[in-house]
Amino acid sequence: MLAIHGGTPVRGAAAWPQWPQYDERTEAELLAALRSSRWSVSWYAPEGGKSRERLFGAAFARYNGAAYGVSVDHGSSALVIALEALGIGPGDEVIVPALTWVAPATAVLRVGALPVLVDVDPETGCLTADQVRAALSGRTRAVIAVHLACTVARIDELVAVTTAAGIALIEDCSQSHGARWAGRAVGTFGDIGVFSLGAAKSLAAGEAGAAITDSLELYRRMLMLRADSRGYTEGPPGAGEYELVELGEIMGGNYCMSELTAGVLLDQLPRLDGQHARRGIRAAQLEDGLAGIPGLSPIPVPAQVDRRAIYEYGVRFDPNAFDGAPIERVAAALSAELRTKIYPPRVPLPRGNLLRPQSKPGFARFWDAKRAAGREFPAADHYREHTLLMHHSVLLGARTDIDDILTALHKVHTHADALTDANYSAMKGITA
Ligand SMILES: *Cc1c(COP(=O)(O)O)cnc(C)c1O
Repeated sequence: MLAIHGGTPVRGAAAWPQWPQYDERTEAELLAALRSSRWSVSWYAPEGGKSRERLFGAAFARYNGAAYGVSVDHGSSALVIALEALGIGPGDEVIVPALTWVAPATAVLRVGALPVLVDVDPETGCLTADQVRAALSGRTRAVIAVHLACTVARIDELVAVTTAAGIALIEDCSQSHGARWAGRAVGTFGDIGVFSLGAAKSLAAGEAGAAITDSLELYRRMLMLRADSRGYTEGPPGAGEYELVELGEIMGGNYCMSELTAGVLLDQLPRLDGQHARRGIRAAQLEDGLAGIPGLSPIPVPAQVDRRAIYEYGVRFDPNAFDGAPIERVAAALSAELRTKIYPPRVPLPRGNLLRPQSKPGFARFWDAKRAAGREFPAADHYREHTLLMHHSVLLGARTDIDDILTALHKVHTHADALTDANYSAMKGITA
């Protein structure tokens, strides 16, 4: 019997890998930041030297092979300063995928521009060049592409379409830190790459973000935009001196990263490649096993991707091979077997609860709620109805974890008839 109907779960008492991961080295970094008494880049350095957030910005740029990196407090803030650095504001349109976290859409609203939500590739959930082309208008100034879950958007085609249209490309790499396309890190193909470093992400520090670029001009603008119009001193500040200077060329807000957070990130960044390697091995083992279960297959990854990043691992699911059982119920049954969350992707933004521009006077002005509600996103719906997601930490453990996942998938496939509408309610009746 399925665990969701009262049967014994596949997964015993063994715990899943904890996330985020830290040890005494992390604690030492955090303590060093605490004891430096320099808790903010805005505060002076008693002993002089560069701030940790400046060091992390440079280290993260180097990791990605970009010229410049800016540390910020959130991925959402990275999106806002990227748009502002590109000069995007009222009257402008920015193309955003309809199927992603809400932040890319709200960031566009926050700079006074209009997010134009477009449908995505039904197999990968990522924006496509064709969808972008169809949504271009005389007001389009930029595209925000998201490399979603465990794959990479066709970045060569997105670069081609945005270059031809003479508009900017922002890559939102919040789910793809360190993924590589044809030997180059994602985030370096567009004008600016933005990253969330939130607690769930594969490079995590609780609440944090970063932006990378090869343009000195965009870098300088982003520095001022995130630090109340201030940039850095040229070299490291001396003892007791401030590191931020009031340049005032472009007015900013305060989206600075705390020094305590930057300390954690300086510890976490060198761990990322090892974690990528481990997740890659576990994903390959999972994919070997998927081949033996009808109706299940991996999310496609373009051939040009020589290293993928996994934020949420996705399994493509064909309801027809599961007696037509709906994705939510299959996900719930798997979660009960595995004692960890297996879930379908989010619904397209206009149908979710998070994108509500009409609830804020500043946004309601230029948001046509009726028109937005009437839009349809058939490819995003297809992706949602055919994808099972799990958090990347599930792939950070032992081979036996993968065996459990495969056993649970087999079991749920074998008993899928118990999850059809008719049988599901009947079973609920028996077990209630
Ligand atoms: C998590 C995420 C964000 C938001 O980042 P915050 O750090 O929470 O502001 C933005 N875009 C995408 C695609 C994300 O997954």
